[in-house]
Amino acid sequence: MDVLAAPQDLLRSVFGLRGFRGQQEAVIAHVMAGGDAIVLMPTGGGKSLCYQLPALSRPGLGVVVSPLIALMRNQVASLRQLGVNAAALNSAISQEERGQIWQDLRAGTLDILYVAPERLMMPEFLDMLTRREISLIAIDEAHCVSQWGHDFRKEYLMLAELRERFPGVPRMALTATADVQTREEIRWRLGLDGAELFLASFDRPNIRYNIAPKASPMRQLLAFLKTHEGESGIVYCLSRNAVEETAAALNSHGIRALPYHARLDAGTRARNQDAFLAAEDGLVLVATIAFGMGIDKPDVRFVVHMDLPGSLEAFYQETGRAGRDGAPAETMLLYGMQDLMLRKKMIHDGEAPDEVKRVELGKMEALLGVCETAGCRRQAILGCFGETLPAPCGNCDTCLTPAETWDATVPARKALSAMLRTGQRFGVGHLVDVLLGVETDKIARFGHDKLPTFGVGKELDRKGWQSLFRQLAARGVVETDHENYGALVMTQTGRPILRGEEEVHLRRDVKPRTAKRADRAFAASGDTALFEALRQERARIAKEQRVPAYVIFHDTTLSAIAEAKPASLTALAEVPGMGRSKLDRYGETILAVLAQNAA
Ligand code: ADP
Ligand code: ZN
Repeated sequence: MDVLAAPQDLLRSVFGLRGFRGQQEAVIAHVMAGGDAIVLMPTGGGKSLCYQLPALSRPGLGVVVSPLIALMRNQVASLRQLGVNAAALNSAISQEERGQIWQDLRAGTLDILYVAPERLMMPEFLDMLTRREISLIAIDEAHCVSQWGHDFRKEYLMLAELRERFPGVPRMALTATADVQTREEIRWRLGLDGAELFLASFDRPNIRYNIAPKASPMRQLLAFLKTHEGESGIVYCLSRNAVEETAAALNSHGIRALPYHARLDAGTRARNQDAFLAAEDGLVLVATIAFGMGIDKPDVRFVVHMDLPGSLEAFYQETGRAGRDGAPAETMLLYGMQDLMLRKKMIHDGEAPDEVKRVELGKMEALLGVCETAGCRRQAILGCFGETLPAPCGNCDTCLTPAETWDATVPARKALSAMLRTGQRFGVGHLVDVLLGVETDKIARFGHDKLPTFGVGKELDRKGWQSLFRQLAARGVVETDHENYGALVMTQTGRPILRGEEEVHLRRDVKPRTAKRADRAFAASGDTALFEALRQERARIAKEQRVPAYVIFHDTTLSAIAEAKPASLTALAEVPGMGRSKLDRYGETILAVLAQNAA
């Protein structure tokens, strides 16, 4: 294609967009001038344009390193729709496709090549590339280089070599992972010492956060999904079993759900993933964290965590998969004492050296802080990423239904005392029995009915005590005994509470909200019938070309067409998302749909 125009012009002619967003313009100018860059933007922030535009505008081939085959495939499909000659080189393509790519590379006709890191670093391939002109090298999902992170890929470590192999070629590292440690690790591991850092705000204002104690998870999930009928989203579970059970339960309730986890055979996994990517009407993908990285489906309307994620970063990245198109999206996290103890145990039992474990614990505790805050969730989250949101957001559960706090100083002392007097060898269930004065066999066997704390806790019911222990654990006042998993022990921070020197104020657990249905992304505005007709036409085209519908047009573009009702190709060209190539391919068809629905 006729590339090498200025980025501004390509933005309009190829991508059909009016202007840059946020830091895009600054990043692109920097890379156009030959500089290296580290780009941190939240999911949906618009990272792709940051490398696609300079790749097309600078002479030579743009190389994009990407860890995931599904991601490459969709990016390439989207670029081809725009008339860009893009290709993906990975283990999933046929011998024939591979041959074609090599041929195109030799002929210099490729604009952008997506490549898996291990392929790129094959000596033969590198040798061939070094003889070509390269416009830039973009390393997507660059946090995969971090050994302390949740997506570590050892192939990424090899990418440091690119600096020596391609001197003078601008290199970019892009990620949606926000924390300072990962950022610095990306810099030194990828040899990006002189790279300029572009740090966007990590706020995702269109995402509504809900966090609730896990009471009856399936019921809570069903209540949540009821407010999202006809929409697609992801439900994360910790274990493969939980994935299978949850998916089956949803189907038995008449909600279309598919499982996804590492144990499924590759064929089923790919089929379920493709079904989700293509889904336009309600489909729930129930998955372990094996699913999601690089999923760029723009219209994921909700993300649910049935179990506590391992860190605040993991939580934020997973929830960030909702609402990339900027339309309203909602998330819900359920967590309980069990989760919390299990996560700590996983870190403790892990192979990592002690200092790494300390960092992991810190990241987990940051998430617990967000879970237990009585203030705005978004303020708490962004605060952990070093960003200040000046006012409560108005779009999270605590902003919408303010959390009550209560003075738990006396009950907290009773709880700690019950732990100490029973020798710090028992779990929550037994401790609550002691506090409530329940005469179980176990109580009798250990003689715990003789303790002064036996039955002193009548002011709270079982749920109340469970909530109190959970919150004490979340604050690190108590933790599980690493030798005797399940038993609670007091930490140093418990002493002043026990001695009555420190007050404890806790959040009162609120009943899960019975939410009104969130506004459907687009139906509310404009001509619904026309929007649906356009969707049908898009579905037909997508099916014909065997690509997900959003590769043809995003919902945002269809809704803009439905609103503007352009009468000519020239007017249609003004709609955001309508680049030259799409206008050529689909312009007439769309005008025909508009004419048919003009009545
Ligand atoms: P990221 O890779 O950062 O998660 P993407 O590059 O996939 O984000 O972009 C997210 C969405 O925002 C896409 O639907 C994309 O088309 C849209 N987008 C990106 N930049 C712009 C822009 N300048 N104007 C309008 N839409 C944009
Ligand atoms: Zn808020």
